[in-house]
Amino acid sequence: MITIPETIWASMLAEFGKEKRQVEQVCYLDGVMVEDGGVVTTMTIPSAILEPGRFHVVPEAMNQAGKHLRALRLRRLAQVHTHPTEWTGHSQWDNEWAYSQLPGAISIVLPHFARTKPRLEQTGVHLRTSAGWRQLSPQEVLLHLRLVPGVLDFRRTYETARIESARKRSWWSFFTFWKH
Ligand SMILES: [Zn+2]
Repeated sequence: MITIPETIWASMLAEFGKEKRQVEQVCYLDGVMVEDGGVVTTMTIPSAILEPGRFHVVPEAMNQAGKHLRALRLRRLAQVHTHPTEWTGHSQWDNEWAYSQLPGAISIVLPHFARTKPRLEQTGVHLRTSAGWRQLSPQEVLLHLRLVPGVLDFRRTYETARIESARKRSWWSFFTFWKH
């Protein structure tokens, strides 16, 4: 199971949204390994060659985008790339040029150049098995990936709830502690 903070997912969509050309884009999700998978800490955008129907990361660019892994003791947990249409399958090119061919590697494909700000369930998730790349069913995706909040902020809800409950109380209820 790979855990992705929603803050990183949102940053990824925002970065992809900055590209004005009609081209595919790619990034990597890096992070730390845990017992049953990994936790994403870092989105890495390589200096890729971007084309309308495919992307390519030359070895030098891949090298540059991987140097921090050893230095920071991080692992590459998944690749994410965009497609021009709603099709989120893996092309033959995608199979051949994926960031890793090790069984267990995960590749996520976002539709419509990610301009529709897709959620995880609107993507295509592919798993590298010993037999090759295989697209996961929606049920299987839930076993391999999950998004968790990167920020939880209860400040306003707490304040609002406190004011609301104070409004609901009758004026005399504020003096109940005097009864004892
Ligand atoms: Zn592709």
